[in-house]
Amino acid sequence: MTNHAYIILGPPGSGKGTQAQEISKLLNLSHISTGDIFRSIVGQDSPFGQEVAQILKSGQLVSDDITNQLVANRLAEPDAVNGFVLDGYPRNINQAKYLNTLRPELTAIYFKLSDEAVVQRLSGRRTCPTCNRIYHIKYSPPKVEGVCDDDGSHLIQRTDDTEGIIRTRLQTYHQQTELILEFYQHLGKLIELDGTPPIPEVTAKLRVTLGI
Ligand code: AMP
Ligand code: ZN
Repeated sequence: MTNHAYIILGPPGSGKGTQAQEISKLLNLSHISTGDIFRSIVGQDSPFGQEVAQILKSGQLVSDDITNQLVANRLAEPDAVNGFVLDGYPRNINQAKYLNTLRPELTAIYFKLSDEAVVQRLSGRRTCPTCNRIYHIKYSPPKVEGVCDDDGSHLIQRTDDTEGIIRTRLQTYHQQTELILEFYQHLGKLIELDGTPPIPEVTAKLRVTLGI
């Protein structure tokens, strides 16, 4: 096993998804986003999908039992055995401890961003429903408005990227997710980067930091 195992931490809208996509491309690792996995479950027309849809719409977290099991299964797949970039997980101490039992060797990358910047970023965010590429109407727009550069799909706004739900997600982040920063800091595994500058600048800093 290599230790090309990365977890990406930071508030919603801090650039986690975009930077995770960059690192996974550069290092040829699988990008595993629990948010994307849950959104694909929502897309399946099943009772479980409807249950998950309600949770996502509320801005709360899916239960640890479900989430941990899903991550354990995904990390056991062949493409993840030699490394991965995990984005959106862990989201609380329970999940962080569980991940430690699965893969103790990892690097945690934290993108710091203020609440005001989060709201601004998320309200302009658009995503491709086909390839999950992330855009921003002002900061990283597609070449043609509303259309994915890579596959021509019509871009969508996530149902949880609206003002009220953004506030709830931020609250969840401050109450539960922020605590795990300390957890990784104590383990000496935390790299902190300022997520405020434009995305390409943050990517450049990240590459220098990781030596990639
Ligand atoms: P994200 O795309 O990472 O912002 O995740 C979107 C939503 O999926 C979150 O607001 C949660 O409802 C759910 N979710 C994603 N990852 C997790 C996780 N690790 N634990 C619990 N819920 C999660
Ligand atoms: Zn696309």
